[in-house]
Formats: sequence, structure tokens, C-alpha cells
Amino acid sequence: METFEVRTGRRSDLRDITGQVNAVVQNSNVPSGVATVYVPHTTAGITINENADPSVVADIQASLDKLVPWNESFYQHGEGNSAAHIKGSLMGSSVQIPIEDGRLVLGTWQGIYFCEFDGPRTRRVHVQIVSS
Ligand code: ZN
Repeated sequence: METFEVRTGRRSDLRDITGQVNAVVQNSNVPSGVATVYVPHTTAGITINENADPSVVADIQASLDKLVPWNESFYQHGEGNSAAHIKGSLMGSSVQIPIEDGRLVLGTWQGIYFCEFDGPRTRRVHVQIVSS
């Protein structure tokens, strides 16, 4: 398993990590298999979406903020970051991407996004590659 760090800059910050994941895949020299990209955090997540038009990511962030406001009277979690935990679960903590010809099989417009919801922080991303 390989691990790299992501430094986030704001409380809510979606960072394109496709290049870092691709580098791990290329270094592995695995021609065919699957890459699991996993985020070991409870207030962050990971998702695959469009990396051509940056307004898509802005719209995802704005929609998550509307769905899950930072302050809600019914939140019970004493740390005060319930919204970040909820958004992390909505996005999920891992994605799996096939590898063929030594490359991630991503669509033309797809990118892998680390989703920060309680930043800024330095976060970790694990990539495990299984050959097939
Ligand atoms: Zn918390």
C-alpha cells in the first residue's frame, strides 16, 4: 500500500488527486488490476466526478453545504463538526478504479477528488493496488 498526503486549504475543499493516484499506479508496474483509493478520516471523503469544468466541483460543495448546514440545533456531537462527519459519510471513504494497460480506467471527464470537510488540515490517502 502506498500513502500520500493532501494539504487542504479551507474548511470545505475538494482537491483533484488524480495525478497522485496515477503516479502510484505507474510506479506499481501493475498492468491489469484494481486500485482502491481510501481515506482514513471521519471528516473527509472521496469521490469521482468531473474535472474539466471546475464549477461542477463548486456546485457539489455548495449543494452539500445546503443539504448539511454547519450549524443545526439537533446536532448532538460535542466536537461541533457534525456536518463534516455527515458529508464524509455521504461521499464515502473509498473508491475503486480498474487498471488496464498500466493506467487507471477513468472516463474522459472523470477525476478523483479528495473531499475535505473540516479543514484546513494535512490528510492522508492510501492507495492499494491488486493485480489481476
Ligand atoms: Zn467530530
